[in-house]
Amino acid sequence: MMKYNSTQDKSKAVLSAQAIAQGISQDGGLFVPESFPQISEKELKSMLSMSYQDRAKLIMGKYLTDFTADEIADCVDSAYTVEKFGSENPAPIATVEFNGEELNLLELWHGPTCAFKDMALQILPHFLTKSLQKVGGGKDAVILVATSGDTGKAALEGFKDVEHTKIIVFYPMNGVSAMQKHQMNTQEGDNVYVCAIRGNFDDAQTAVKKIFTDPATAAVLNENNMMFSSANSINWGRLLPQIVYYVSAYCDMVNMGKVAFGDKINITVPTGNFGNILAGYYAYEMGLPVKRFICASNSNNVLTDFIRTGVYNKNRDFYTTVSPSMDILVSSNLERLLYCMSGCNDEETKGYMELLKSEGVYTVSTKIKEKLQSMFWGGYADEDATARTIHDLFEQQGYLCDTHTAVAVSVCDAYIRETADKTPVVIASTASPYKFSRAVLSALNKGKMPESEFDMVEQLHEITGADVPKPLASLRGKKARFSDVTDKEDMQGVVFGALGIQ
Ligand SMILES: *Cc1c(COP(=O)(O)O)cnc(C)c1O
Repeated sequence: MMKYNSTQDKSKAVLSAQAIAQGISQDGGLFVPESFPQISEKELKSMLSMSYQDRAKLIMGKYLTDFTADEIADCVDSAYTVEKFGSENPAPIATVEFNGEELNLLELWHGPTCAFKDMALQILPHFLTKSLQKVGGGKDAVILVATSGDTGKAALEGFKDVEHTKIIVFYPMNGVSAMQKHQMNTQEGDNVYVCAIRGNFDDAQTAVKKIFTDPATAAVLNENNMMFSSANSINWGRLLPQIVYYVSAYCDMVNMGKVAFGDKINITVPTGNFGNILAGYYAYEMGLPVKRFICASNSNNVLTDFIRTGVYNKNRDFYTTVSPSMDILVSSNLERLLYCMSGCNDEETKGYMELLKSEGVYTVSTKIKEKLQSMFWGGYADEDATARTIHDLFEQQGYLCDTHTAVAVSVCDAYIRETADKTPVVIASTASPYKFSRAVLSALNKGKMPESEFDMVEQLHEITGADVPKPLASLRGKKARFSDVTDKEDMQGVVFGALGIQ
């Protein structure tokens, strides 16, 4: 059976159902698989002719060894349907030429909320329900989410009306796009609650983590027959589904004739909390032929500096950008990479995390730095570069990308120019451009900006002809259900209130 250890206390070892139900380890560490199951060359070859769903079942089966094959199949087949993702393959590749280089955009935003978070959050509720049956002791799960925009909506949509679950979402009042806010505030479902906080995403995430790991709060929930679980990307059930699409993308690249079987690819990921790119790295650890991960940041470029210097320093200005889902200075999942690259050293990992908490800065060992730099390349795109990329890609190819994807395209372009590395590259395209219509439309620079978000959507459609995703179009005129705002100090009270606990 595959066990999961805590990054801060290796002696903890739980099965996947426990890791998923619990979300985070009690010591504050993150659950990681004790070892990486391998994908043999033969297996990878066999996956070439498989559907996305069958590839998912094969890979997930290697990690969820306390689930039956039927249970896994049930989760996969309920999540990745044509109805929810628009086609058999939920993660298709679009090839474009940008500044003379061929880029393969892995479009991860065809799900119900039009961002890549759906790839994990459509399946997580199924994992969680089954995990609770195994280890939940009849308790209801309370899903607490801190979101920089896309996770919140994707989690709400994934968990709405799922039995034995309640979901509470906090988002930074001024840190999300108008469309993101509208998506969340109009959420349907009897088990959902949404609240804005005065503060930024890091404030929300820190407060949620604190509520989550507070023993007194856990005791109160326990008395009420509830337990916390997490839908944030620290939950193992979020990361696992993301490993799948990198393996699947490799297979599709081979099938499309973009790479010879067995040859390496590069992978570029627009990065915030480091979950998406970490999943790619885990795929590499499983044996996927990858040469290098290009970690793309926006002006909040703490990861760029980290990869280049080995010093992680969050003591810096925080910028609110047009790619809000990457406006993050504390990338939670980096902890898992440090654990991995330190050779599963829990003491060392814990030391870095404690320094981050107390000083806001830590310097990794030479060993980690060298390993890091051999596999990762960091770069960032500021607001101008992001806008220019959206504009140029559309002018050159008639392809419309969102602000986050534009950051990745821009950094990937810089990487190719700087290194002359011609390895075929896959770029994670993480959101529909219509989710960020204001920034995308203004980047195209085509005259006067309309007032309302939905008029911007319409104008963007008129200019580009790109389809407006139905889930966004249907929000027009929908009434908001939620409008609460709280201070971060009061979040715990808000949680109890939403749960009906006095
Ligand atoms: C969440 C998100 C990201 C960042 O992904 P991480 O896993 O947090 O690094 C990038 N782009 C979009 C559109 C997102 O929603």
